[in-house]
Amino acid sequence: MKSAIILHPKNICKEELIHLLTCDGEEEKELFDYTRQLRNHTIGNNVYMRGLIEISNICIKDCLYCGIRKSNLHTKRYSLSDDEILQAARYAWENHYGSVVLQGGERNDAAFILRIEKLLKQIKKLSNHKLGITLSLGEQTEDTYKKWFDAGAHRYLLRIETSNIRLYHKIHPQNNLHDFHTRLNCLRILQKCGYQTGTGVMIGLPFQTTEDLADDLLFLKTLDVDMVGMGPYLEHRETPLWTFRNQLLSQAQRLKLGLHMVSCLRLLMPDINIAATTALQAICPEGREKALEIGANVIMPNITPAINRANYQLYENKPGMDEGAEESTRRLIESVRRSGCEIKPDTWGDSPHWQHRNKSSETIR
Ligand code: SAM
Ligand code: SF4
Repeated sequence: MKSAIILHPKNICKEELIHLLTCDGEEEKELFDYTRQLRNHTIGNNVYMRGLIEISNICIKDCLYCGIRKSNLHTKRYSLSDDEILQAARYAWENHYGSVVLQGGERNDAAFILRIEKLLKQIKKLSNHKLGITLSLGEQTEDTYKKWFDAGAHRYLLRIETSNIRLYHKIHPQNNLHDFHTRLNCLRILQKCGYQTGTGVMIGLPFQTTEDLADDLLFLKTLDVDMVGMGPYLEHRETPLWTFRNQLLSQAQRLKLGLHMVSCLRLLMPDINIAATTALQAICPEGREKALEIGANVIMPNITPAINRANYQLYENKPGMDEGAEESTRRLIESVRRSGCEIKPDTWGDSPHWQHRNKSSETIR
């Protein structure tokens, strides 16, 4: 018999979410079955691909969990050339990805802002204005977000990392560059500028409780975002949070919690885009398929030139370090099939939630 919570997902409260985040056995199976069916019924079993281009690991920030933080002097810094970025975008276009994500360390100097603006226009041009572009380049001013939007970006990913302000400040340095309210305000500005806005959290951080994660889910719903990418926190020895590695849940527990977060979010927000993230795959080779099986609908294969991948190590044992774009794509198509979903090629795969709000129609090549 279906539990009362699953039959009335709109009214789920924090206590019920805590229960669902920690349930096991038959109850877990019932939850996962339900959210798979809910996804299929609401938005179908299509999976959308975004070719992930990690454009640079140069970052002005020092997040205490991140392997490419400014103070990690053991990372070799790189910045892809314009040609390399355009070539990767052309690869995505020619291989039916439908859209790309440009992700990298945060920079806010004028040269960087202008370069991104030019690259956006060039990517649009090389794909007859058909390739969708998501940016994930951190906190910027409203003026910069607008410039990039006008140049062709239409989606933006900026994780809030945790909705617990005290925890946010524990996992970031205490200075103006790492302020919870500034980050939250950026999300509001992105929504105002017209971006399909995505955010997310890390799961299994030191000091984080199941209550915090239930609050995160309710926070994502209140923010009314269009897309979410969230995955397990994974430790990196060259970061300050490494000190707390013995206090963490096991990686298996973080994977399980990550899957429960995806499933519960699908319950709360049936028509948003939810990514099956690489961090799930870092713990378990089938981690992404498991997320697709229970409600995720977006996957982001890495199409960064293989030679640069080893230097974009956010955490230890990041998968796909030595495989090229073709190998990443082949593996991905196989894994999506195994999860019972279907890749929808040549499609932006806009969040249905955003489409409903804007009554806009999807752009299909
Ligand atoms: N610099 C941009 C930003 O912070 O928004 C975009 C790139 S940043 C590397 C993308 C995401 O990586 C972050 O939002 C964070 O959630 C995730 N990340 C960083 N370090 C991580 C870690 N040790 N484990 C899991 N995810 C991590
Ligand atoms: Fe920089 Fe993003 Fe890493 Fe923070 S999470 S150090 S902003 S790349």
